[in-house]
Amino acid sequence: MRIAIGGFLHETHSFAPRPTTYRDFLNPGGLPAAQVGDALIPGLRTTSAPIAGAIAVGEEAGATLVPLAWAFANPAGPIEDEAFERLSAQICARLGDALDEAPLDGVYLDLHGAALVESFPDAEGELLRRVRAIVGETMPLTISLDPHANLTPAMVRLADAAVPFRTYPHVDMKAAGAQAMRLLLRRIARGTPWARAFRQLDFWIPLGSQCTLMPPMSAVMEQRSALSETVAELAWCFGFPYADFADCGPAIAAYADTQAEADAAADAFAATVADREKDFVQDTLPSAEAVAEAMRIAGGPVVLADTQDNPGGGGHGDTTELLSELVRQGAKGALVCLINDAESAAACHAAGTGTTVSLSLGGKSDGMPFACEARVERLTDGVFTLTGPMGAGNPGNLGPTALIDVQGVRVIVSSRKMQALDQAIIRHVGIEPSSCRILALKSSVHFRADFGAMAERIIVAIAPGPVVADPAILNFRHVRADIRRRPRFG
Ligand SMILES: [Zn+2]
Repeated sequence: MRIAIGGFLHETHSFAPRPTTYRDFLNPGGLPAAQVGDALIPGLRTTSAPIAGAIAVGEEAGATLVPLAWAFANPAGPIEDEAFERLSAQICARLGDALDEAPLDGVYLDLHGAALVESFPDAEGELLRRVRAIVGETMPLTISLDPHANLTPAMVRLADAAVPFRTYPHVDMKAAGAQAMRLLLRRIARGTPWARAFRQLDFWIPLGSQCTLMPPMSAVMEQRSALSETVAELAWCFGFPYADFADCGPAIAAYADTQAEADAAADAFAATVADREKDFVQDTLPSAEAVAEAMRIAGGPVVLADTQDNPGGGGHGDTTELLSELVRQGAKGALVCLINDAESAAACHAAGTGTTVSLSLGGKSDGMPFACEARVERLTDGVFTLTGPMGAGNPGNLGPTALIDVQGVRVIVSSRKMQALDQAIIRHVGIEPSSCRILALKSSVHFRADFGAMAERIIVAIAPGPVVADPAILNFRHVRADIRRRPRFG
């Protein structure tokens, strides 16, 4: 059995401050660098990427895996056409070559599901269209997805099955890739496609209330498990409510032996989610109140989640309001993870450890830097290995990095952005996270996987950034007219 494998992963925020370029895919912060051809399997096998799970299942089944190309970039603005054309060409050219060598039995693709390209708002749909043009309409083909996917009719039509992760924080990425490969093997064995049902919900779910560790989403996921007993796959995508195109929003795809079974599971599950619409709320505090509250709490660490500048949601990871509040209120012993500012990191490296430097820190994405005198405590090359539940084994690469002290508040200044989802980011600059009184983390939900257990309290702070807690305030132009951009409360 011969199966082609590849991947293309991006979560696009239409209103993020920077576009996504080809270079952004070459060496992202917290997942492996782009892998092409023979480098793909050894380069990804030991990571937490979905394709690693697919590789393990495929090899165990004795399949010959034909590596195409795989690339991930951190969430940011729309992907430039050039980047998409190059990445798509790498996948498609190798797929054509593979078919020229010998017949293929199937294709597995590791996709995110919320990628938006300048010329193709449904980027995954376009990639699948190109792949189908090469392999034909009947070739078994499955995909894994991030549940932040904005699942589209084209994705459901062009893939035999889609398998999103079941968790947010995403601690089961490999499991989803493994399941997509198992379904591909079943699809090959059965010879015919499953019947499928596709449903889109009529309201958006704010990012912060999509967390599967707490209600209402924990209950929704239990219901998904129960209903999935009757079908081959019940794909539940929460949506990424920052993509300005018609199919932005939560959606469901059910795959089953009969159309009646697929429809029944999709309808029952859609009703379950809709019933809980009013429960998708999130407690937040403005940054000044959040810092004051954190300082009142004895013990620690208190986690302040800087949700709106989450680099894993399209933020640049460089806004400074929370940092300036910590300094203004004298929050000694606090640590900010991180400020993405290559210029300031370079200035620290030029000055050297133990020196004091004047910085115009961060704020490159929104024009609001924080002017400060900082003592350079430690310099690193920004290279480390992730250890937390989401990314253990993955390479981290923040580029030249500095740990600085601003009036008792420490700040990790990096040259590349990465969501603060793993304690190893902090340990690699010589600090034990549990020893910090306050941890200000650029993250919306993923931090809960590795920092949740140690946190005395978690406070979601509202400071400037594009990953707004209420996406309805953004100036959307292309979303469906009939969709509610915030849940109907009460
Ligand atoms: Zn996600």
